[in-house]
Amino acid sequence: MTAGYLFPEVARRRREYAAAHPDAKIISLGIGNTTEAIPPHITQAMVSYAQGLGTRVGYSGYGDEQGLTSLRKRIAEVLYSGMASEDEVFISDGAKCDIARIQSLFGSNVGIAVQDPAYPVYVDGSVIVGAAGAADSSGCYKGVTYLPCTAENNFFPDLSLIKDNTLIYFCSPNNPTGVASTKAQLKQLVDYALRHGCIIIYDAAYSAFIRDESLPRTIYEVEGARRCAIEVNSFSKLAGFTGIRLGWSVVPSELTFADGTPVRQDWNRVMTTLFNGASNIAQHGGLAALDEEGRKETRELVDYYLENARIMKAALTGENFASAGVRVFYTGDSPYLWVQFPKWKSWDIFDKILDECHVVTTPGSGFGPAGESYVRFSSFGHREDVEEACRRLSKLKL
Ligand SMILES: *Cc1c(COP(=O)(O)O)cnc(C)c1O
Repeated sequence: MTAGYLFPEVARRRREYAAAHPDAKIISLGIGNTTEAIPPHITQAMVSYAQGLGTRVGYSGYGDEQGLTSLRKRIAEVLYSGMASEDEVFISDGAKCDIARIQSLFGSNVGIAVQDPAYPVYVDGSVIVGAAGAADSSGCYKGVTYLPCTAENNFFPDLSLIKDNTLIYFCSPNNPTGVASTKAQLKQLVDYALRHGCIIIYDAAYSAFIRDESLPRTIYEVEGARRCAIEVNSFSKLAGFTGIRLGWSVVPSELTFADGTPVRQDWNRVMTTLFNGASNIAQHGGLAALDEEGRKETRELVDYYLENARIMKAALTGENFASAGVRVFYTGDSPYLWVQFPKWKSWDIFDKILDECHVVTTPGSGFGPAGESYVRFSSFGHREDVEEACRRLSKLKL
């Protein structure tokens, strides 16, 4: 449950299994890491810029800590079209790193609320800065309010559980459930935050996977969000930049702390003090990813993973799964399938699938107590591996 242990434990079980079964060709549908090549136009922009660095005229050293003005401007225009301005966009080395810096901005004296299940970094990072309090015997932290998101509530939490003046981490499309909140749901969240003095940390790392046009791709589509929400996002899943490292945060000028000071002012201070700017090569890749050609390329890249997910959904809704009561939650707007095995504990079904299919998944219970009996299947993988994994899964006896 203390999630710092989730991915190391998945890796340990995989290693042990591989050591005991050297002939098993293990396929990972586990960790959310991208696998496909960065598309040519975006790659070329980084190659050209890197080559320029080897010349006197093309060289540049430190840049602004907040990022290239041209990139801040392009993000504001292309992804926020008027909902955020360039001086509210801060370029970074990734959303996870921004979340850590946000945690150091708010410090230890703040209550936390997280969707349960959730991306482990929200809780684990809060533990590190001392905001989570002590863990109880089940591994849940006293300073953290867990907001169960289950099939019963359509994976949208009961907001009344959230205490006043809390920092609310909210991820949509969600990792691990894959569920993207509707505009009406986000409106409820924003209204609640405004009424109760809460600040929302909105993680939109998977916004590029949203294909349902009616779903919001940024929280700023919701009236009032500029007064209560910071958004973090990234090129990692959008453009395959997991190893390149490039992300951004948006801190609207209207957002203030309880005492009225603008959060943006303090965020600027954190970014210029604790951070020294994202790689200039990466930022030129980011610029290319958001021009017309780059937008076409990233859409195709994301579509590739979405097609993997559709193939996996077909396998996981097959006769052997359906007759065992397995429920597949997947709407087509994320790279993750959230699959419930009602008769199983998450780690037991994880072991069974590893043992009988040689496929690695991620046990849902590792993302929070409400994830018990679920397993997350990731669509990040080469097509041929996904197809082979699906052939094996369709023979799984449950
Ligand atoms: C992958 C992921 C990120 C991206 O983190 P980066 O540091 O930008 O690579 C952020 N949030 C969630 C929920 C993720 O799954």
